[in-house]
Amino acid sequence: MNRNESKTGHALHLYSMYKPTLYLIAMFFILLLLNSCAVNKSPEATRFRALQKGKIKDDSSYVYALPFAVGTKHRLVQGYFSRFTHRNRAALDFKMKKGTAIYAARGGVVARVKEDGDKGGLDAAYRQYGNNIIINHNDGTRAGYWHLQHNGIVVNVGDTVQQGQLIGYSGNTGYTAFPHLHFIVWKSEAGSWRQIGTRFQTRKGAKYLRPLKKYKRPGKD
Ligand SMILES: [Zn+2]
Repeated sequence: MNRNESKTGHALHLYSMYKPTLYLIAMFFILLLLNSCAVNKSPEATRFRALQKGKIKDDSSYVYALPFAVGTKHRLVQGYFSRFTHRNRAALDFKMKKGTAIYAARGGVVARVKEDGDKGGLDAAYRQYGNNIIINHNDGTRAGYWHLQHNGIVVNVGDTVQQGQLIGYSGNTGYTAFPHLHFIVWKSEAGSWRQIGTRFQTRKGAKYLRPLKKYKRPGKD
C-alpha cells in the first residue's frame, strides 16, 4: 500500500514538474498542425503569396481598376489563398457596406448575371444564393463579382462595358460572413478555368493587393 501511494505521489510530482514543458510541447504540435493544414502549399499558392509580397515583378500583366468609386477606399479583408474561405481560391474580398456601387475592374462583355438571390450566411448551403456578374475580357480572361445585392445589377448579358463603368451594387448574398465584394479573375487554359492573380492601379502604382490593407481608387487627373 505504502509503496503504491508513494509511487503515485512520485508520478504526480513528476507531472507537476514537467507540466509547463508538456504544455509547450502540446502547443508546438497544435501550431504545426494549424500551419500544415491551413496553408495551401501548392506551387500556385506559393507563387501568389510571392506576388502579394512583391517578390515577383510581373510587369507586363493587365492593370485592373479597383472595383469601387474613384476616391473611395475599402479594406481587403481576404487575399489570395488565405486561411478562411479562400483556402483554394485566388480571390479578393473587399469589405464594404451593402449597396456600395461596383464598377467594372476591366472592360469586356457581360457573360453572366444572377441577381435573384436574397439570402446569405456563413454556410456553404447559401452558396447558390450568391448574386454575381461575370465579364469576359478580350484576352481569354474573365472576372467575377460576387455577393451582390438582390436585384442590384445594372448590366445585362451581352452588354459591352468599359473599365470603370457602374455594373451593380454590393450586398451580402451567398456564402458570406459579412457584406463584401468577392472579386476573382480566371484564365481559360486547355478547356478549364484557372484562377489568376491580378494587379490594380493604386495611389502607389500598379500593385498586387495585400490582405488587411485599405486601398483607395485613385482619381483621373
Ligand atoms: Zn471571398
